[in-house]
Amino acid sequence: MKKIFLSLLLLIGVSGCTELHLDSSQSSESNDEKEPFVASEDELVAHYIDVGQGDASVIELPNGEVMLIDAGTSGYGDDIVEYIEDLGYDTIDYVVATHPHADHIGGMAEVIGSFQIGSIYMPKAVTTSKTYENLLETIQEKDLSVKTGKAGVEVLEEDDLAILMVAPVRESYSNLNNYSIVLTITYGDTTFLYTGDAEEDSLSEITSNIKADVLKVGHHGSDTSTTKEFLEKVKPEYAIISVGEGNSYGHPAASTISLLEEYTSNIYRTDLNGTVVVRSDGVNITVETER
Ligand SMILES: [Zn+2]
Repeated sequence: MKKIFLSLLLLIGVSGCTELHLDSSQSSESNDEKEPFVASEDELVAHYIDVGQGDASVIELPNGEVMLIDAGTSGYGDDIVEYIEDLGYDTIDYVVATHPHADHIGGMAEVIGSFQIGSIYMPKAVTTSKTYENLLETIQEKDLSVKTGKAGVEVLEEDDLAILMVAPVRESYSNLNNYSIVLTITYGDTTFLYTGDAEEDSLSEITSNIKADVLKVGHHGSDTSTTKEFLEKVKPEYAIISVGEGNSYGHPAASTISLLEEYTSNIYRTDLNGTVVVRSDGVNITVETER
C-alpha cells in the first residue's frame, strides 16, 4: 500500500521525489511538462526497470497494491529498493521470483529485507547456489511462507483486475529456465504477459489464453524462447526486452527481433531505452522510456 505522505507531497506540487524523468516516446503530442512519475487512481503502471542483464518488474495495480516480479542481480538490490520507495510504497503485496537464477533473484533478498511483504511466490525448483540460499534465509528470517507458483494459480481476481499464472504447466524440466512462473495481469480490456526466462518447451505447453497487449519478452530476447507459434497466441502490440548492453549471451537475438517485428513496431529494450514504463487505464496504453 502506498504511504500517505507521497500523495500529500504531490498535492502541494512536489514531484522531485523520483529520480527518473521520463520522456514520452512514440507519442504524437509533445509536452514539456513532465507528469509526476506516479500511478494515479484507476491506473495500472508497469515498470520494466533497467537492471542490466537481468529482469526486474514492478507493477502498481489500480487497487493500490503493488507487485514485484524478479529483482535483477545482487548489485541491483539497492536500486530496486530505492525505486519502489520512491514510488511511495512500504509494502510489496505480491513478490514473484520467476525462477532461481541470479539475474532474477540476486537482488531479491535485499528487497524482501527492506519492505513488508504480502505473499511470495516461487516455482517448485531447487538449486544450491549461494544466491538462492541467501534468499531462502531472508525469507525464513522474516517468517514468510512461500507459495508455489505454477499454471492455474490465481493471485488476484477482482472485478476489472486479474492476475493468473499460466506456467509452468509440468512438475519437472531439465532446464531451470522452464520452471519460470509465467503470468498474465489483466486490467479492463488490457493484458500484460510476463514470461521470466521460460523457453519454447514451457511456453508451447500453455493452454490458458495468453493474448496480450504488452509482452515482457522471454529470456532476454533469446532465440530459444520466443517462437512464431507463441507470438501467434500472444499477438503483442508492445514488446519489452529486459537485457544488458554488450551482454556475453548475444541477447536479444536478431531473429527474435525480426519475429517480433512481424507483430509490432513497438519494441522497447532496456539496454537502449533504459527503464520502460507502460500505463493502462483499462482501455488505452501509453509508454514512456527513460531514454
Ligand atoms: Zn535471466
